[in-house]
Amino acid sequence: MASSVRTDHIQIARVLGIPIYLHFSWLIVFALIVWTLSTGYFPAHYPDLPASSNWAKGLVASVLFFVSILLHELGHAVVARRHGLRTRSITLFIFGGVAQLERDPKDGRAEFWMAAAGPGVSLVLAGIFYASAVLPFVSASIAAVAKYLAVINLLLAVFNLVPAFPMDGGRLLRGALWGSIGKARATQVASAAGSVFAYFLIVAGVFSLLAGNTLSGVWYVLIGWFIKDASAASYQQVRLDAALRGLSVRDAMVDPVATVSSSGSVAEAAREHFMRTGYGGYPVTRGDATVGLLCLKDVLRLTQEERESTSVQGAMRPLTDAIVIDPDAPLATAIAGMAQAGTGRLVVMQSDRLVGLLTLHGVIRRLKVREELGG
Ligand SMILES: [Zn+2]
Repeated sequence: MASSVRTDHIQIARVLGIPIYLHFSWLIVFALIVWTLSTGYFPAHYPDLPASSNWAKGLVASVLFFVSILLHELGHAVVARRHGLRTRSITLFIFGGVAQLERDPKDGRAEFWMAAAGPGVSLVLAGIFYASAVLPFVSASIAAVAKYLAVINLLLAVFNLVPAFPMDGGRLLRGALWGSIGKARATQVASAAGSVFAYFLIVAGVFSLLAGNTLSGVWYVLIGWFIKDASAASYQQVRLDAALRGLSVRDAMVDPVATVSSSGSVAEAAREHFMRTGYGGYPVTRGDATVGLLCLKDVLRLTQEERESTSVQGAMRPLTDAIVIDPDAPLATAIAGMAQAGTGRLVVMQSDRLVGLLTLHGVIRRLKVREELGG
């Protein structure tokens, strides 16, 4: 089993079946927000309220700020689910959250509404907090906290609506353009807008730093940097999609393919196949049938003695759907499958007959040649 422990994230809860992670950067930011609110914002804006309650107000406001961001992300997740998309996880970062979808939405309309849901939730929250602040029976302290949260949620909605991919506004833009110019071009436009906005933030941050506003300056630069990286990554994804377009597994697979027999020992296979050819894995055959895949990883897991006493049959990965692919499947699908299987290779089968082996190496080599020869 793949472990779900990640070194820079901790899981704090599970909501609607979605694991909620906290990035460690959030802990620092959380402390910073509590401190800023308790010693700066509340004393400055409400000098008449008792100073003793400032830390309580700061803490409550910070926790509800955190809950607001979580609800924003859950808004995305709920609408995604209505469009048949599962959310793998939600991670709360330095300046907000990221809902990790299992894949891209299938059309622009789904993308549009999924992107709109988060800022929509933030706007509703802003309205609710504002209404609670002006209720007649609410104490001045609670009203102060509620008013702060109304402003924060409004800012959250507005900031996320900036049309810069991969922010919500950029996704809205991509969703809106998708229908008319196609997903690839739409992503390109939205990512370009993302890069422009990112550099604008970085430059604004540097000016802010020069003007002596250290905290907000660093803030702008950090957010700008994050968006720049993320929009570049989505543009790379588009380029990869374009490079793979029209290619099927057959175009990149190795054939004929060297196999090992299921009856020999792992040690034999290591000596006579792996060490001779340097390949990272072989389909395993029993008679005429292909029954599994033996990877270098599977060999390395065993000690020297175990390799002598274990048969290939006992050490191989059985031939499941996860490691089998059809020669006519799109190459992009196969690469995703390869990443999921964790084997770096897939057995290519056509009506129960072994026709080839698809390796990550082979795919990369194929793409490089294609690019060098210009299409
Ligand atoms: Zn959002």
